[in-house]
Amino acid sequence: MERICLDCGAKLLGRSDKKFCSDQCRNNYNNRLNRDQNNYVRNVHAQLRRNRKILSDLLEDGYEHIHRDALIAQGYSFTFFTHLVETMEGLRWSFCFEYGFRETGKGYLYLCRSSSYMDVEAGEES
Ligand SMILES: [Zn+2]
Repeated sequence: MERICLDCGAKLLGRSDKKFCSDQCRNNYNNRLNRDQNNYVRNVHAQLRRNRKILSDLLEDGYEHIHRDALIAQGYSFTFFTHLVETMEGLRWSFCFEYGFRETGKGYLYLCRSSSYMDVEAGEES
């Protein structure tokens, strides 16, 4: 079976566990892998920060009960969140860092800011 260098695609000779034709190719490959992983992490962080900013700005402007479309219009992505919390009463909150929301039906969300880590402030719907 013909084996090729994972970086440059050159035919590999010698040991069967060899993956690269040279140290240079090994370094290229690993650097590229790290860069791709760093880009992935950077992009997810950027979206999480954007989500957090949107929730934070809305709460600061006095919005507590708002339709999810209003968030999406500002660039919010519901795919990305940091953690989920279920209260004793069975309410499910989705958080982006200290800001979170729970669904109240028909696409509406009730927003909140958590006072402490992993904790949901008891809030009443307005
Ligand atoms: Zn190579």
